Amino acid sequence: MSDYDFDLFVIGAGSGGVRAARVASGYGAKVAIAEESRVGGTCVIRGCVPKKLLVYGAHFAEDFEDASAYGWTLPGEPTFSWKTLIANKDKEIDRLNGIYHKLLAGSNVTLFEHRATFKDAHTVVVDGKDVTAERILIAVGGHPTTPDIPGAEHAITSNEAFHLEEQPKRIVVVGGGYIAVEFAGIFAGLGSQVTQLYRSEQILRGFDNDIRNHLAEEIVKKGVDLRVNTNVTAITKQSDGTLKLTLTGGGEMEVDAIMFATGRAPNTKGLGLEQVGIDTKDNGAIKINKGLQTSVENIYAVGDVTDHVQLTPIAIKEGMAFADTIYGGKPSAMSYHAIPTAVFSQPPVGTVGLSEEEARAKGGEVVIYKSTFKPMRHTLSGRDEKTLMKLIVDKTTDVVLGAHMVGPDAAEIIQGIGIAVRMGATKAQFDQTVAVHPSAAEEFVTMR
Ligand code: NDP
Repeated sequence: MSDYDFDLFVIGAGSGGVRAARVASGYGAKVAIAEESRVGGTCVIRGCVPKKLLVYGAHFAEDFEDASAYGWTLPGEPTFSWKTLIANKDKEIDRLNGIYHKLLAGSNVTLFEHRATFKDAHTVVVDGKDVTAERILIAVGGHPTTPDIPGAEHAITSNEAFHLEEQPKRIVVVGGGYIAVEFAGIFAGLGSQVTQLYRSEQILRGFDNDIRNHLAEEIVKKGVDLRVNTNVTAITKQSDGTLKLTLTGGGEMEVDAIMFATGRAPNTKGLGLEQVGIDTKDNGAIKINKGLQTSVENIYAVGDVTDHVQLTPIAIKEGMAFADTIYGGKPSAMSYHAIPTAVFSQPPVGTVGLSEEEARAKGGEVVIYKSTFKPMRHTLSGRDEKTLMKLIVDKTTDVVLGAHMVGPDAAEIIQGIGIAVRMGATKAQFDQTVAVHPSAAEEFVTMR
């Protein structure tokens, strides 16, 4: 009989925490989970899922335009209702939130809908009461950060973008990462006048340079006013409610909204980590070892709070690895090799493995295969959109080190290619694979 209330107490019911709680409970552990916001976490409530729904919504403008080349006549000029899209998206998020509640209840996990903070290594305080556990898992995620500039309080982040009462006619999106390019594409597709400001040379730092340049060109073709080497230094709210932005170099702009997509920080403030002696990095992220264990033996952490790889499927895999190892008798080490990922920009990016620059930096000789073409769909529509696909191959071993693409369905395509890259497939093995014709994906097995 354990001396504790629970075997495992999970703080944070997002993707990583919920997976760990359910799997641990399935192995027979007595599990509780605490959530101060809505069960489901960033991805389900204010991230990946609502974002993807808005991306779908944004694409219709082009689909309507392209339809006429395929013989369709629309009954009239298409119109768009922001309120309808947001309301329908909210309904879907409510549904998913309900499913998460059911999943936890069905897994016998006790849910505390309150914030939990540490009292000591085995005790958390929830709604004023002490709750004890043999082990504690921290899965509290992160939040968007905003630069410290005058008037920053007038800006929104992705959190608020999902709930705007009105669609901004003119919006500036600041940043060049995943969230900035995704939201620039969403607002532009839905008809807002979008300016994207990026402080350095080219968006999507860390991605393959050809992919970055190609996406930047496509984004501009879709009407986003992309300005690199530009940042905002001050925001002033004017009497009519519009915002005046001061830009680096002294320029000014007037807009209806400004959204910062300038990175995310771990939600560790006020959690009481210092009370327990849990080591953190400078930005507040929790330090963990390969076994996902913090500096305190019985306390573990998974997901964005560790600021390692900020991706939902990684948090889920970490949650799973933790539960399998500790409660399932199946020691599982996390592998961060060849993680496929997609940016749901318009057009989207799919990528797995090394960029050309990373591969060259490793010193070995590489062979580059590249293909740029007009997606077949646009042969009739005449739309000026190009797909780029690229393979990075080790010249000595013939192993495909990286696969990258910008173009429709990139996320769907790169998932399959990711298996091959992770398994260490060679270019010859790619070439031996029969093409699916006609498709864009076949380029990955026909590039010579
Ligand atoms: P990122 O860290 O990816 O990008 C932040 C961007 O903001 C960078 O371009 C950075 O520039 C810029 N920036 C940082 N500070 C400032 C500043 N003070 N002023 C101006 N610009 C600034 O963060 P995101 O917010 O886009 O996303 C967070 C994480 O969430 C991502 O890393 C990703 O892992 C995850 N995510 C994944 C998605 C997916 O899988 N599709 C979707 C959305 C998010 P610089 O490059 O110069 O540093």
